[in-house]
Formats: sequence, structure tokens, C-alpha cells
Amino acid sequence: MEFETRAIHEGQQSDPQTGAVIVPIYLTSTYEQEAIGKHKGYEYSRTGNPTRTALEEALASIENGKFGLAFASGLAATTTVLSILKNGDHIVAGDDLYGGTYRLLEKVVKNWGVTTSYVDIDNIADFETAIQPNTKLIWIETPTNPLLKIIDIAALANIARKNNIILVVDNTFASPYFQTPLDLGADIVVHSTTKYLGGHSDIIGGAVITSNEQLYTELKFYQNAIGAIPSPFDSWLVLRGIKTLAVRMREHEKNALFLAEFLEKHPKIERIYYPGLSSHEQHKLAKEQMSGFGGMISLELKGGFAEVERFASRLKLFLLAESLGGVESLLCYPTKMTHGSLPEAERLQRGIKDNLVRLSVGIEHQQDLQADLENALA
Ligand SMILES: *Cc1c(COP(=O)(O)O)cnc(C)c1O
Repeated sequence: MEFETRAIHEGQQSDPQTGAVIVPIYLTSTYEQEAIGKHKGYEYSRTGNPTRTALEEALASIENGKFGLAFASGLAATTTVLSILKNGDHIVAGDDLYGGTYRLLEKVVKNWGVTTSYVDIDNIADFETAIQPNTKLIWIETPTNPLLKIIDIAALANIARKNNIILVVDNTFASPYFQTPLDLGADIVVHSTTKYLGGHSDIIGGAVITSNEQLYTELKFYQNAIGAIPSPFDSWLVLRGIKTLAVRMREHEKNALFLAEFLEKHPKIERIYYPGLSSHEQHKLAKEQMSGFGGMISLELKGGFAEVERFASRLKLFLLAESLGGVESLLCYPTKMTHGSLPEAERLQRGIKDNLVRLSVGIEHQQDLQADLENALA
């Protein structure tokens, strides 16, 4: 079955008891057992809940994976994946990462005795050079945040496989509609379902998908042992979001491409980052490994912080807010917002300048969005 159909039907059979077409929100913490050790597959809702099961099956299906796990946030999903590492292990990570992932690695995971080396993602060979005898995991995002660079997942998967290392791809920016890293050889996919999968800026959630049964068993153990699970209501909202993911992503992309082409020619824009533009450095690679380019645009305004401030304050439709992937358009200033936890030198070295702005293009009418940008730039 095709993506759109699976997103609506996988894991979402009508309720056998009532015929309800939509999976109910099972607000229950526990389940009556017929006899000691005899139950219907559910014992306690941290371990398993039918609404969450439906979501986890849908997540696995849309990522072309075998197993899905849902979490209370993207960082809860990330923390649970990193829990498979032990004192003395080493991670190789791309250097253009979600700020919260960097903070987790440096301020939390490091205290477990697990260290991370950051690699300049522009050179894939650097990942191999950074591998140590104790390297257990490679962690990347692609497209990256906020510079929207593209990493060759298949090439990196080869390096990981050769060295017996787990490759994790945070697929939040592309969404499974445009990119399925497991098909390209990744071992684990992570999502912040807060973003495109939820799609309506009304929940915080996370997901992990894999086709490796051994990894799944381990991750399922940690999901239950750590307990960072989503509520049945939040699970239901993400499931509801997934049903319309395909149509939303097509609109996000259409609008983003339209605005990127407009902004690229605008005299007040110094530089634009959108993988769908032929001027993007890795446009060819993006075309090969993605089926679309998504709804995120980053740009550098001519000038500095003062110009960014004026631009942001004059926008009416693009709301100044963290996050992305909702139906409404948002503007984020990475330097002070999503990447505020990065030390300044580190931030500048990663190319996140004071005039960089990130847009999450929503699904409003493209003419209105263009007029909003045009007005604020003028
Ligand atoms: C938002 C985000 C996260 C963290 O997810 P939360 O749901 O906020 O915990 C991780 N990775 C990426 C790429 C994100 O955009």
C-alpha cells in the first residue's frame, strides 16, 4: 500500500467492540487480568497502551520500519536511544544538530561516561576518521538544523556497517513523507513528533523506529524502564496528525519552494538555504535521497541583529516562536532561541551567524505569506 493509505489505516482498525472508526483514547492505567499471568497483552500503561500501540504501528509503517516506539518528547526518544550506551562508549555526531540534542550529549550523557566527537558534516570521510575503537553510535540529522545541509545517508550507513556501529538519523526535518532513512541503511530513526508528524503545534512527542529486532527489544526495554512515554491523549493526537501528513507536506513544500525562489532574488537577503533550490550546495544529493525538500528555509539578512529584530517585529503571519512543522508559519532566530544553549564561538564556527533566520513555512496561502515577507523586508 502507498504512504497515504498506510498513514490512515496501519494500526488503526475499527474498534472490535463498538465499530468506532477511530482508535479510542484508552484512558486507563491498568488492565484486569483473567488469571495470574493471563492477560490480553496489556498489563500496565507505561509498558503498553492500545492507543499508543496504534500510533507505534502507524509510525513503523510510514518509516518503512518493522517496529515503532512512541515517547513523551523528541528528547525523551533521544535519551532512550542513548541509554543503550555504557560508560566508556563513544559517539560520533554531525556538528549541525538540534541545540537540545547537543545539550543532552554535553550536559547529561557525558556524565554517564559517554563522550561525543563532532564532525564537520561537509566531509563524509571525516566521520570515518573520527571513529575510535569504542565508538558505538553515529548520530546525524539531515536536512540539518538550522543550515539545512544534506548528509549522504547511504554513504554513512556503509561506514557504520563496516565498523559495526549503529547509525541513528533524526528525521524530524524531512518527515517520513520525504525521506525514509531505514531504506538507505540507517539502523534507527528518531523523530520529534512535536513537529510535522503532530503537525498542529498542540503536543510534545517523540518516536523511534527500527527494523532491527534486537535493537527494538533493547529499546522497548528502556522505554518501559525509563518511562518517558506519551499519554494516550497525546498518542491519539499524533495518530490524528499522521493521517494528513502527506497532504500537509505537499503544501509545506509547495509554499517553501515558492517563497525560497522569491527570497533568493530579494535584494535584502544575503544568502538563502533551501535544499530544493538548484543553487543549494547539495541539491543533487537532496534530490537523490529525498522525494521532496520539505518546508524549512533558512536565510541570512543583509545586516545583523538589528535588521533581524526589525524584520521579525514587522511580520504578521510568520509568528516569532520556537518549533516548526505546524500548519502555521513561524520564524525562529537560532542564535537566541533554538541554539541559545551553544557557546558563541561554537555557534559561529558552525556557521550560525547573527543575521541567520529560520522559517517554518506553513500551509497558509502562498500569496499571503509572500506579501507578509515582502512587507517586513521593505
Ligand atoms: C524539536 C527537535 C528535537 C527535540 O524534540 P522535542 O519534541 O522538542 O523534545 C529533536 N530534533 C530535532 C531535529 C528537532 O527539531
